[in-house]
Amino acid sequence: MVYCKDLEPLAFLDRSDWLLSGVGWLDADHDYVRGPVSEAFFAALVELLVDPWQPAACAGRSRCPFCRFTDGPGALYFRGSTVRMGANNLFVPHAATRGAYVAPSLIAHYVDAHEYAPPVAFQEAVLQCPPMRSMAYQKALLAAGIRPPFGGA
Ligand SMILES: [Zn+2]
Repeated sequence: MVYCKDLEPLAFLDRSDWLLSGVGWLDADHDYVRGPVSEAFFAALVELLVDPWQPAACAGRSRCPFCRFTDGPGALYFRGSTVRMGANNLFVPHAATRGAYVAPSLIAHYVDAHEYAPPVAFQEAVLQCPPMRSMAYQKALLAAGIRPPFGGA
């Protein structure tokens, strides 16, 4: 999986016209911030990850680099919602900086199972993010300077 230090520019999506900051692109060679997060944040994160809009589908499934004997779960279940692990990416717009945070679906597993505490600014953006695929979400993306075809994957 691609490594990107939290809040650093994400380069691999090949969208140089978009201001994208990576969150949760962890790997086994780099330490990460551990700590408590609110259940409200985790619940909001899971909801957004159930069927996330993204400009292009990613091929294949990323493996969890921290699970010792397995590649990590294929899906995460919480409060009746299911998040498929390792293929989707989540775009969380933040108009203040005219950009978006991009997180891999595995971020939910990292938070749940490996004590990962994403940056507070990301947590706040997730809590404020409109419902996925709503008109408000599309408007928030546009306000953040992201003008993709909204059909998406
Ligand atoms: Zn794991």
